[in-house]
Amino acid sequence: MCDKNKPSVQDIAELCFRKFESLPKTGKPTANQWTVLAGIVEFNRRTGDSQLVALGCGTKCIGQSKLCSRGLVLNDSHAEVLARRAFLRFLYQELKHERIFHWNSKLSSYDMDEHVEFHFLSTQTPCGDACIQDEGESEKQAKRQRLDEESDIVFTGAKLIGDLSDDPMQQTPGVLRTKPGRGERTLSMSCSDKIARWNVLGVQGAILDFLISKPTYFSSLNFCCADAQLESLERAIFKRWEGKPFQHLRFQPQKPQIRIDSSISFEFSQRSDWQPSPTGLVWSHLPEDLRPYEISVNGKRQGVTKKKMNTPQAALAVSKYKLFLAFLDLLRFNPKLSEKFGQKLSDLELMTYTSCKELAMDYQLAWRQIKDKYFLQWTKKPHELLNFSSIPNE
Ligand SMILES: [Zn+2]
Repeated sequence: MCDKNKPSVQDIAELCFRKFESLPKTGKPTANQWTVLAGIVEFNRRTGDSQLVALGCGTKCIGQSKLCSRGLVLNDSHAEVLARRAFLRFLYQELKHERIFHWNSKLSSYDMDEHVEFHFLSTQTPCGDACIQDEGESEKQAKRQRLDEESDIVFTGAKLIGDLSDDPMQQTPGVLRTKPGRGERTLSMSCSDKIARWNVLGVQGAILDFLISKPTYFSSLNFCCADAQLESLERAIFKRWEGKPFQHLRFQPQKPQIRIDSSISFEFSQRSDWQPSPTGLVWSHLPEDLRPYEISVNGKRQGVTKKKMNTPQAALAVSKYKLFLAFLDLLRFNPKLSEKFGQKLSDLELMTYTSCKELAMDYQLAWRQIKDKYFLQWTKKPHELLNFSSIPNE
């Protein structure tokens, strides 16, 4: 054992900021605009090498009425979610090239190099539970008073499930919430809740879970923002389930290292006198010819003509639809995978996204059990929103 030192918050932030700076100006926040940046760094314990593999910037989430039934539009463009989707895109590419993955013919799945780990960073405390401080009664009273005076403020930046009144006293720690925003209510869960879910089921999601021999978890979560509170972050990400063990062979709640470095600041971090940037940025570590970088507006690619707005050409490479195509592409690349699904490739190509996800039975069963235990109030998206196939129905 001669493990190299893992990257510090500073090292991870530098990799993220350097990539951000290298991206073209288009789509980045303009004067008086702020955004959130999130990134994922791969670290190899054997070689000591670190590299950025995914980056996302964004603050927006679309309302319920704008959801797309063909998987073309991103519902949730918060930085954390964009970075995770960019990471999925990176993983599909990695599975093809077998640099960090190796095909295990005995298990009929891909093993990840045991020396590789992933570290997550964000320039803001994730919306929802992590923003809530569990304070004493007297402080609560004081805050209540303050809230009565300025009823516009929502401290958590997220909405309590089942509470449509937008009660500003929604400061209960440890409960589930949907995304914040003043406009139409969204069905997307807060970033705190999504990160908590990744911390039990892995960040890979259902479809990729079926292809790899172990779920992928973040080894550390790093925050560089002045207001981050270790206690609240730990509670939001894993401590709220403490004392509620989950019996499962494959999935287990993790205890990742959570680090805060408030001395590092992102040039575009939130300021009350600035506006949130309307665009999202998504970058994955991929060869240039695969277009690793995209800009999003309202969950679609920026610059798409009106005529093409409702076609697959408007979809980002990290949309459900395009990631589903990436999965089918991988099946074509490695025919042994379709055998694993017990179906012919030509049949899989006709499947809907939902039925494909249902093939990942371990994952789905575990999710149902975990939902009952930790995430009872997780919002359910209308079934028809996931019923698309890879063949576009115009
Ligand atoms: Zn968020």
